[in-house]
Order: sequence, then C-alpha cells, then structure tokens
Amino acid sequence: MLWYPTALLKLSVPLALIVAAYFSRARAATLGPEFTVLIDNLPYLFCFIAVLMAYQFNRCRLMLAAFAVGAFYWVVRTHLQVSLSDPAAWYAYLAVSLALPVLCFYLLLLPERGIWNFYGFVCSLAFIMLALICVQLGPWLPEVNQVAFDYYTPRPVEGYVMSRGATLLVSLVAVVGLVLLCLRDDEVEVAILGPFFALYLTLAFLHLDNMSVVMCSAAGLCLLWGLLRSSHAMAYKDDLTGLPGRRALNERLKMLGRQYAIAMLDVDHFKKFNDTYGHDVGDEVLRLVASRIRRVGAGGTAYRYGGEEFCIVFPRREVGDCVPALEAVRKEIADYRMSLRDRTLRPARAREGSKRRGATRLRTDQVSVTVSAGLAGRGPGAPDAEAVIAAADQQLYRAKKAGRNRVAHA
Ligand code: GH3
Ligand code: MG
Ligand code: MG
Repeated sequence: MLWYPTALLKLSVPLALIVAAYFSRARAATLGPEFTVLIDNLPYLFCFIAVLMAYQFNRCRLMLAAFAVGAFYWVVRTHLQVSLSDPAAWYAYLAVSLALPVLCFYLLLLPERGIWNFYGFVCSLAFIMLALICVQLGPWLPEVNQVAFDYYTPRPVEGYVMSRGATLLVSLVAVVGLVLLCLRDDEVEVAILGPFFALYLTLAFLHLDNMSVVMCSAAGLCLLWGLLRSSHAMAYKDDLTGLPGRRALNERLKMLGRQYAIAMLDVDHFKKFNDTYGHDVGDEVLRLVASRIRRVGAGGTAYRYGGEEFCIVFPRREVGDCVPALEAVRKEIADYRMSLRDRTLRPARAREGSKRRGATRLRTDQVSVTVSAGLAGRGPGAPDAEAVIAAADQQLYRAKKAGRNRVAHA
C-alpha cells in the first residue's frame, strides 16, 4: 500500500487560517456596529461561494460540506448563544457535537461520483438522514445511564465545553481523516478536514467571544481553498499516479533558469507486462514505479510524461550531479518485488499469469519491473528545454539499445 506522509503538509494552509481566525477574535470585537452585519454574515457568504464552486466542479462531497458548515453556523447563532443550562441550547449542543464527527466521517469515506446523478442524489439524501438521526440521537445519549450521562455531558472540565464522548469521536475521525489523507494524497480530504478542525474548535471553546463567527469564517475559507486546490489538481495532476502531469511539466519548462538537467524514464517491456498480467496490474505497477520516481534526490521533480514514460526536471544541476540520484531510483525499482498475492495484483487470467513474458517473474506470487533512463543537461548543443528533452530521449534510446535497466547520459 502506498503511503504519502508529506501529504500532511497540505494541511498547513487550513491550519494557518484557523490560527489567524483565532487571533482575529479580539479584533472582531473592536470593530464598530456598521461592520457587525458584514462580519456576522461572512460564514454564510463563504459557504454560498463554496456551494457555487462545488456545483461548478461537480463535487458532491464538498457541496455537502459547504451546506453543513452553513447549517452549523446557523444552529450556533440561533440556538447556542445562551447558557447551556437552557434545555434547548443543551439539546442543540449535544446534537451538533455528535453530528460533526459522524457527518465528517461519512464525507471522508464517500466516493466522489458527482452531483447530478442518481448516486449523488442518494448520497445527499443519506447525508441529510444521518444529520437528522444525529439530531435525534445526540440529546438521547446522556439519558441512557449514569455512565453515558457523565460521558456525554458538556463542560467536562473548566474552560472546555465539548463532552468527553464527543471529543473521543472527533479524535477518532481526525485520525481516520489523517490516515486517509496520507493514503490518498488528495486535496478533497484537506478541504474536509480543515473545516472539521475549525468547527470542532467552535464547539470545544464555545464560551469564548466571537468564536463561532471567526471559526466558521475560517471553515468557509478552508473549503474555498480546498476547492481551488482540487480544481488546480484536476488540471495539473495525473489521476493514475498522483504525479504532476504534462501540463504542469510544460509550465515548469518555461520557468527554468540557465542551468538544469532533464531525465526521461521509460518502463522496460511494459507492453508485454500488460499482456501478461492485465491492464489493472499494469496500472498498479505504474503507481508503484511513480511513487519511487517521485522520491528522486538531487532536487528533482518527477512528472508523468505520458503512458509509461516519466520526466524528471533537475533545476540548477549538471548531468554529473543527477546520475547517482537516477541510479538509486533505477536500482530501487529493479530490486522491488511486487506481490501478486493481493487480489488486485493477480493476473487477469490464470493461464496468462503462468507465462513468463515482459516482466521478470520471480516466485509464483511476485513480479518486478525495470526502468531505463536517459539524462541530458542544458549546454551549447541543447540551448532550450525542448532540445534538452530531445537529447535525454536520445540517451534513453541508447539505454534501451544497450540492454535496458540502465541510465545513459552524454
Ligand atoms: P520498451 O522496453 O522498449 O519501452 O518496451 P515497451 O513495451 O515498454 O514499449 P511500448 O512503448 O511499445 O509500450 C508501452 C506500453 O505501455 C503500451 C501500453 O500497453 C502501456 N501503457 C501505457 N500507458 C499505460 C497505462 O496508463 N496503464 C497501463 N496499464 N499500461 C500503459
Ligand atoms: Mg514508451
Ligand atoms: Mg517502455
């Protein structure tokens, strides 16, 4: 299973927005009454824009998240501006503190299949049903017995409002969200987790002045940021491997300085690999190969050039600086044993699986692939990126001719 812990860094912008919102609480209190209307309605404005954008990008999960943040803010403004000793406020608080982790969990696990189709309709309906169940169940939980009462009663300690039970649920969902983010490396998880943390802080520190308005505004901004990032990823990231794609490479090539090197990599005998093991296994292998290439050293950035070809750009490097990094990647891929035990990696047809073609067949349940690479740097013979890529391609051809599974350079 592939694992991208660096994906956690994507949370830095939402977290910065939340911290900034927290410190702007005091400032919000000093603004005159003419600003109050505007400030109080900011979360609705952000959520409205987020709904429009999610609709435009056909993102059902983010649209539901935007509606949920708006609804959350409405409940806090209309029901939770009084002491929790008021029964209506107590019930509303218990309901939202249960709904927050449950609905977030649902959105994290929901596969994205767009808005205007039967699936989108059913998912939205299930989301509303789940919210209604939480509204019913939340206030009922403390009534079960004394233990449940202690566990689900708000204000467990001075200065912290959320009950222990709800805090535990929030923590569990946060862990699930962070694990999913590391596994999927997807902007949508970031767009869901940012608002989730902001709304949790609203509930946990509800007694602080202006907490709901600043945190719900931050939640709306986190959603907008996530939507922008995910639309950017749609345009620039390759869906299969998660690497930046051809469009991102073209943009990058325009911005290179005077010195750089470019490597072209190609999986060896990949057509035969596909013929032997099927396209699905081929796809899985491309993901694995890409995950290794992505970690190349020497400051290189990997791109999927197309098909089973990859391109690595090494800014401010000479050819000699990049060879060890490329050799390390080539060796790591060649040494890696991919297990076919996993159902997804099994041969499409058992008969074909028994033939030894293309990839190296090791044991009955293992395969491995190799890559060849060609490397070239900018110089008098290759004055621009296009020429450097052509030169790297020539070197790749040499590597293939020389027997594959090697790095060639001028
Ligand atoms: P060589 O060692 O000379 O590079 O041989 P090759 O078979 O790898 O080269 P060729 O260019 O003839 O074949 C590339 C194959 O890569 C064709 C296609 O089946 C496969 N391929 C390209 N893109 C994908 C993809 O996205 N998924 C899968 N599974 N296969 C792909
Ligand atoms: Mg090829
Ligand atoms: Mg190939």
